[in-house]
Parts: sequence; C-alpha cells; structure tokens
Amino acid sequence: MSAVSCEPVRAEGSAPRGHLPILRERGQREVFCGLTGIVWLHRKIQDAFFLVVGSRTCAHLMQSAAGVMIFAEPRFATAILEEKDLAGLTDANEELDRAVGRVLARRPEIKMLFLVGSCPSEVIKLDLARAASRLTAAYAGRANPVKILAYSGSGIETTFTQGEDACLAALVPELPARATGKDLLVVGTLPDVVEDQFRRLFGELGIPVSFFPPRRSTALPAVSPETTYLLAQPFLATTAQALELRGARRLKAPFPLGVEGTRGWFAAAAQAFGVPEARFREVVAPAEARGNAGVARHRERLAGKRIFFFPDSQLEIPLARFLSRELGMELVEVGTPYLHQDHLATELGLLPEGVLVSEGQDVERQLDRCRAARPDLVVCGLGLANPLESEGMTTKWSIELVFTPVQGFDQAGDLAELFARPLVRKGLLQV
Ligand code: SF4
Repeated sequence: MSAVSCEPVRAEGSAPRGHLPILRERGQREVFCGLTGIVWLHRKIQDAFFLVVGSRTCAHLMQSAAGVMIFAEPRFATAILEEKDLAGLTDANEELDRAVGRVLARRPEIKMLFLVGSCPSEVIKLDLARAASRLTAAYAGRANPVKILAYSGSGIETTFTQGEDACLAALVPELPARATGKDLLVVGTLPDVVEDQFRRLFGELGIPVSFFPPRRSTALPAVSPETTYLLAQPFLATTAQALELRGARRLKAPFPLGVEGTRGWFAAAAQAFGVPEARFREVVAPAEARGNAGVARHRERLAGKRIFFFPDSQLEIPLARFLSRELGMELVEVGTPYLHQDHLATELGLLPEGVLVSEGQDVERQLDRCRAARPDLVVCGLGLANPLESEGMTTKWSIELVFTPVQGFDQAGDLAELFARPLVRKGLLQV
C-alpha cells in the first residue's frame, strides 16, 4: 500500500516567491541501511572501532560498502549472532562481551568502541545501550580505558546517511560542558582535506571553530550555552536536536556544496561572529575564484541537461540547487528520503520556482515518472542504477557523493565533474 499526497510548502527564509509543490510518497523504498555510515565514520574518528551486532547479511553489506571505498582500514567488524545465541538473551550478552574482549585485546590503541545495532529481530531485543554502559564500567579500570557507546544502524525505515546521525547523536552527551565562551561547531563528518581548508578559512576570519566528530575520540569539542553550530551535512536532524538540548544554537545557512552554498555557509558564520563585510570578501575571494573556475570547466557539458534524483543520500536538495544555479541543469524531479523543512529552508528557497520535490518513495511510481521523463542523468542508489542503465539511461551512484570530498570552494569543480563524467562516458560509448 502506498499513499500519495501533494501539498504546497513555502521555504522559510526565502523571499516570498511562490510555492514549491512537494510530493509525499510512502511505499516501497530502495535504499541502503545506516551501517554504511561506518565506512566514512571509521576513517574520520581514527581511534574508534565499530562493532556491528548483526547477521551475515550485515557483514556482507559492510564488505560491499567498504569495497566501494579505496584505502579501507579494518577498524570495523561484525559480531554475528548465531541462532544458538538467540535462545536466551543472557547467552547473547555473554557472546557480545566476548566479542568486545577479543577486539580490545587485539587493538589496544582503540579509545572508543561503538556497538552498532542492526535490524534482525534478535538484535533489536538486545539492549545495546545497557551493554555499552556495562562494558564501559568493566574496562574503566584498565591502564588503557575505553569508552563504549551504542547506536542503531538498522535499515528499518531509515536511509544510509542516518547511521551517521545516530552515531553523532550518541556522542553528543559525551561532549564536555563549558560554562561560557562563544565559539562555532561544525557538525557532520567532513574529509580531512576539506576540514583543513575550512579550519584555515575560519582562522583567517577570526572565528574560533571546532569540528564534530573530531579526528580523535579523546578530543571531543566542548559545548557552552554560547556555542553556535553550522551543519555540514543535511542529514543530522537527531544530532541537531541533541545539541540544542545542550544549549547550542544552529545558524541558518545553505550547505557547503558548490561555490554559492559554501559562500552562504561561511557568510552565516561571519555574520554571527561580527566579521566585517570587507574582511569576509577579502578572505573568501581567492577560494571563491578558484571554485568558480573549477565549476566553469564543466558548465558547457552540463548546462541544459535534465537530471532526475531518486531519494537516497539526503544530499539531493543542496546538490539540485548547485546543479541548477551554478551549472544550468534542468531539474526534472528532486527526490529526498526525508525533508527537514527547517534545516533545508535556505536551500528550498534557492530552488527554481515550481520544481517537483518529492519526499519518501514509492519506487514503482517513481520509476514510471523517470521513464516517462527520459532525463539525461539519473542520480540513484546502487540497486536502481544497473536496471536503469540497461534501459539506456545514464546514472550516477549517489553513494559516491558521500565517499568523495565534495564540500567547499576548492572541491566545487570536482563535484561538478562527478556529474559530468557519466555523460562524457556515454558520449564516448556512442561515438
Ligand atoms: S538492512 Fe538490516 S539486516 Fe540488512 S545489512 Fe542493514 S542492518 Fe543488516
């Protein structure tokens, strides 16, 4: 069964410029689960280990997701709960304790271990949060203490980027408290190369900044009631809520994808910290010029091309804004798994008038719309890419967008290239 409704929504924070039609669908979905986030999270937090508590399916998913990424390091594993463990929860907890013991004995450098829940019903019955507190207490006395936390990467009613949201939300209570001090927290996993560029620009603007998650679990940033934060990723609703409960305040901004989005993102921080306009322009101008030059190289290839987004990564709306405004692409449909009206308000205000935004999915109906539209490029998950390619369509895997450094001025050209490449390939095949 699926339900379809279409209701008008006006983007907050935008000039009054008509209504965006939003199609809401609740039907069969084609998405990866939140375990996928481990692939980029374990690269970011370099002293953390992710122990998936799951089934053989989860282990296979992790292997194939990690296989998409080059330079994967084995700081994750799956504790497979066999049938025999499930007769009693006590057995399952003992098995889990043994698995944690084996990991920590082999990897003494690990300072933080995440127990990552999955969706088999046997795992759902386990109280992983309680297991995490029990195990943290058990390892507290050793020379090398380790913090053990739990979150769910389950694929039930979630999409693959929500694994990061659940992980960071589990980390928020661990952030140290500070009584005062105005500072900026950048929230969301960014590749180190992007983080370094951002840190440099914030430094030149005179804005004290920390990044969450940090590269080391022992360097968690502190929060105070004067902390403001910028979301670096659009899929962190639960983390944002947890930060607000700690007193932090979100700055309204677009996301740092493309030159315009990155400029708006930095501008929001500059404004909040009282950076003079002239100083802001002086600091960002060189990077902005490099970004514009990088994007310009791909405009001819992409301008006028029609693009269709299936809902998958939750990056779809900022990407659509970038592709339409900076590269002149025509948006046929912009599908997103979830639409956080508040976090996406600035982005929605920048989309072209009347573009179809869809939230949720009824995959068969959406495939029909896509086939009828025959777009030049389809952005979708791995499960849909091959069937659509076999029907003659050109596709881009959305998962590649979270495994690649794409944020910031200096990556704007690379981001454009990710969309140009499948069209170039198709052109070569047709010659
Ligand atoms: S969808 Fe569920 S069972 Fe499948 S890999 Fe993800 S967590 Fe494991």
